[in-house]
Amino acid sequence: MPSPAKLDQKFVWHPFTQMRDWLRREPIVIVAGHGAVLRDVKGREYLDANASIWTNLHGHRHPKINGAIQRQLKKIAHSSALGLANEPASLLAARLVSIANKDCNGMAKSARKSLAMPERGSGGSIANPKLEKVFFSDDGSTALEVALKLAYEFTRRTRGASARPRFLSLDGAYHGDTIGAVSLGHIDLFHRAYGGMLFKTETVMSPYCYRCPFNRAKPERDDARNYRLCHWECVRLVERKFSARKKTINPFAAFVFEPLMQGAAGIIPQPAGWLAQVAEIARGHGALLIADEVMTGFARTGLAANVSTRLLLANYNLPRFHQRSQDKLFACHHEGVQPDFLCLAKGLTGGYLPMAATLTTQRIFDAFLGEYEEFKTFFHGHSFTGNQLGAAAALASLDLLQTAASARARADLQQNLHDELQSLWRLPAVGDIRQVGLVAGVELVKDWRTRQPFALRERVGIRVCEAMAQRGVLTRPVGNVIVLMPPYCTTKEQLHRMVSALAKSVAELG
Ligand code: PMP
Repeated sequence: MPSPAKLDQKFVWHPFTQMRDWLRREPIVIVAGHGAVLRDVKGREYLDANASIWTNLHGHRHPKINGAIQRQLKKIAHSSALGLANEPASLLAARLVSIANKDCNGMAKSARKSLAMPERGSGGSIANPKLEKVFFSDDGSTALEVALKLAYEFTRRTRGASARPRFLSLDGAYHGDTIGAVSLGHIDLFHRAYGGMLFKTETVMSPYCYRCPFNRAKPERDDARNYRLCHWECVRLVERKFSARKKTINPFAAFVFEPLMQGAAGIIPQPAGWLAQVAEIARGHGALLIADEVMTGFARTGLAANVSTRLLLANYNLPRFHQRSQDKLFACHHEGVQPDFLCLAKGLTGGYLPMAATLTTQRIFDAFLGEYEEFKTFFHGHSFTGNQLGAAAALASLDLLQTAASARARADLQQNLHDELQSLWRLPAVGDIRQVGLVAGVELVKDWRTRQPFALRERVGIRVCEAMAQRGVLTRPVGNVIVLMPPYCTTKEQLHRMVSALAKSVAELG
């Protein structure tokens, strides 16, 4: 029997992988996992520093999630949601609606106040909608496809069938690999080749403080959001985009964004107040909000995630209880924004099974109601929609997430991550370190004083991650940005090993 490595190299085509490189060396073959540790076929152990591509929350082989799946297996693994309901999916939908609306009343107003947002012409924030309906699908891309199609058709039905609704997304956006999701994407390297297959969307400046042409500050040894010198030009550009489009016959149907931090764009965090301001602008122009929380959802953005590192540190002088009160399960809620569509995947099942959900409002739902022969049905669905095993895993994962022990562990992990990352500032190739909650990106540059980037063909991010793997730590880069996104169960000692493997591997760059 050939080894799994041999079989893999003969038959498997890997995602986002140059297969010529892949075939040059023996792959790591994972056979087991426990907590934040993965074990390969040779018995070697690795730390899962990117939570298995941003999916895992509570660690591998968690007894509570394993138990929930095993119990569900004794009943049934899957039956169709086309024409049939099932227990775990209905329980999960109710639970998602409940957690997605938690603390939402008056949210926009209080966030506005605490973020000290400038007044805009509208003279106040527009009421947040309530999320009341859940459409299940399989992964992040399909969660976005569902939102896109619903927003498109809703807009045509409310503005007239001749409307050709348009979408606005951020520079560098990544929302998945299906054609609708790719149309929203603006990463040339991934998306340009398919231009001919895509529908046209518009893009607006994303608030990338470290590389912002409007940021007049010189580089410092600190997260660029903390020392930026600007006049919120990025927000004004959003306003301008909406105003310009309003003069055409096809205004924007929706604004699509990752809240608090763009992931695949380069782990790009937004300065405090950006999201609340642009959400208000979009709503003021009658656009729907589509929040892609595929990466950021389920507490990944942690505590007080949108305050600067300095404020975060000050916050840590508060009693623990006080800190926990700022814990949010969804990134949007840190800025008091409730979208019209909340797209969830990755961490929904704790990273166990492929399942996604698109939450939306009664208003959108109602636009698809009618007599059968009116054909107002939402003609969309996947074979595994509402899968019972996935729903059972998701319910168990949410139970864990909502325990005080998990909230405490996340708070500690967030602070440990912050403390550990400080040691990296001494490396000249570290240009920016950006942390939002339990996610961090370390941008590598030729020299921090000039911010000069490495050319992509130098494969700096890949080389650093390969060196980290040699040291027993697994993650993948986004270009020249090294991503740390540990499972919530990661211990202080494990986190130290992750960051020190990163430091040693960067130092080797010379
Ligand atoms: N949106 C975001 C923000 C993502 O990070 C990803 C995947 N990395 C997706 C959508 C697509 O998710 P999936 O790979 O599950 O289709």
